[in-house]
Amino acid sequence: MRIFTAALATETNTFSPISIDKRAFEASLYARPGEHPATPTLCTAPITVGREVCAREGWELIEGTATWADPAGLINRATYEELRDEILGQLRAAMPVDGVVLGLHGAMVAQGYDDPEGDFLSQVREIVGPDVLVCAELDPHSHLTAKRVAAANFFVVFKEFPHTDFVDRARDLWAIAVRALKGEIKPVMSVFDCRMIDVFPTSKDPMRSFVDRLFVLEKSDPAILSISVIHGFMAADVPELGTRMLVVTDDRADLGDALAEKLGRELFAMRGTFMVKQVDEVVAVEQAMAASAGPVVIADVWDNPGGGTAGDATVLLAELIRRGATDVAVGTIWDPIAVQICFAAGEGGEIPLRFGAKSAPETGSPIDKRVTVRKLVKDAQMRFGESFAPFGDAAWVSFDGIDVILNSTRAQSFDPSLFSALGIDPKSRKILLIKSTNHFYDSFSKIASEIVYCSAGRPYPNTPATTDYRKARRTIWPMVENPWAD
Ligand SMILES: [Zn+2]
Repeated sequence: MRIFTAALATETNTFSPISIDKRAFEASLYARPGEHPATPTLCTAPITVGREVCAREGWELIEGTATWADPAGLINRATYEELRDEILGQLRAAMPVDGVVLGLHGAMVAQGYDDPEGDFLSQVREIVGPDVLVCAELDPHSHLTAKRVAAANFFVVFKEFPHTDFVDRARDLWAIAVRALKGEIKPVMSVFDCRMIDVFPTSKDPMRSFVDRLFVLEKSDPAILSISVIHGFMAADVPELGTRMLVVTDDRADLGDALAEKLGRELFAMRGTFMVKQVDEVVAVEQAMAASAGPVVIADVWDNPGGGTAGDATVLLAELIRRGATDVAVGTIWDPIAVQICFAAGEGGEIPLRFGAKSAPETGSPIDKRVTVRKLVKDAQMRFGESFAPFGDAAWVSFDGIDVILNSTRAQSFDPSLFSALGIDPKSRKILLIKSTNHFYDSFSKIASEIVYCSAGRPYPNTPATTDYRKARRTIWPMVENPWAD
């Protein structure tokens, strides 16, 4: 057997001011054929798992390019076309192949392309023909368009959010692919449109129990090969925005259709109950200042660079300043210009500095303070599970009892080590202000006396009912109360 594998992925927030070009891919991950490192990244586990599987089976794995850009705004059209054509060219050169196993994310949007993955998969299909197996691993924060479903044999999607299971799901993807290539099964997809859009953290109920049940259901009947929830991604203005249930069966579309609909209607019945309750910045700061012990972690949940925002909102910091809060550490505010000024001033420098809130509307105003530059770190990084997440050159500045880490590479606040990387002991502070929706929880909950989820300003289109969508259909919940009424 000869199997082709490659990865092409990013998550596009079409409302984000940060455009994506080739450099953004190169800065995050750009590995030419065979150059992908031994450890997988979020969307490239099909490659590393594929190496193990093909070695075991004695099959030939032909690697194409693997590339990923951190979430941000629209992809430059020429960049998307160049990367797509690069991989398609590699596939053509590899022909004939028996299968194509891809690492995608599923939420790319490029200038001129509302559905890049649909475009890419259709061209893959055209090259390999109707009889070659084509499958991919997807992130649930994606768009399951009809074009993609028509072009691929099957998809497997991360079940967990935070996405702790991207390697396990790549193993599922390959396990199904291997059995299909050996002729033991014939995977077919059943999709149910839940006619809704929501955010579904799996670290808490009701989604925790729902996902646990999917694992049980997958083992309950040999005809059920895989069950996934496509959460959807509300920050993308695309026609087919929305939540979908996906069931992959062994040639049992009848069974798959019924199960997808049953589970999809259960999700719809629980709409609006999945997210943690959030307070505004006034309540968040009041609650944090009133706490008897620290550190209280205030999560600025919607200014999350992991969801494509700039990560430079100052609404919460301005409120902390207004209330005279002290013993505060902020990690981080993205401002490469301010970082550059701090590096020029040097450690110990006392300078007037304007920072933050330069990139997008409804993120507050820049902060003007006389600051002391306390510490400068080149190429700073924080821990993220087993690996590390870079946040660029970083500067620790302080004023009026508040410490702020300014960074030059956008990154969400995964782990308290982002503070220690600059020499700040996060456990010693009364209040920690961070930027992350959900991924921070595992690590920060271990040191926090309390966690406050705050929705401050509107850096992210987090209320779909009022978001100014131009392309997304408005016939789903919560844009309409009852999308099932005729
Ligand atoms: Zn995701």
